Amino acid sequence: MTYISWTDNKCPRCKTLIDRHLGGRDAVGLRIGVPYVTCRKCQLRMSTGSKEWSDFTHQERRNYLFPTVDKIIVLAGVAITLLAGSFQLGSFIFILIGLLVYSVVPLSKLLAIRSSEKRARSSQAEGK
Ligand SMILES: [Zn+2]
Repeated sequence: MTYISWTDNKCPRCKTLIDRHLGGRDAVGLRIGVPYVTCRKCQLRMSTGSKEWSDFTHQERRNYLFPTVDKIIVLAGVAITLLAGSFQLGSFIFILIGLLVYSVVPLSKLLAIRSSEKRARSSQAEGK
């Protein structure tokens, strides 16, 4: 299940905090980000377990944006609300609030994709 939390990445050698990012580990295990980082203290190069968006396969992009678990939760939530309230104003507001809260997850993913594409563009401009 997708949940939101802070994830700390620490250098395995000197325990320096490398980066801290929002977003728990998804069920599919896909994360957008720089694939390698270098520790600023001991210069150890390590894999982050992340990939840039341009390195995602078509299947991975679909899984990242539309995890099956999330779809089931949204559909179940809407179905339960409709059955219980038979479309009264209260249930409509309930769905709206649910969607607003839920929209944080795809929004954070879209932001991650955008910054990944920005990194790709700037590294091309530098001629790497
Ligand atoms: Zn280090």
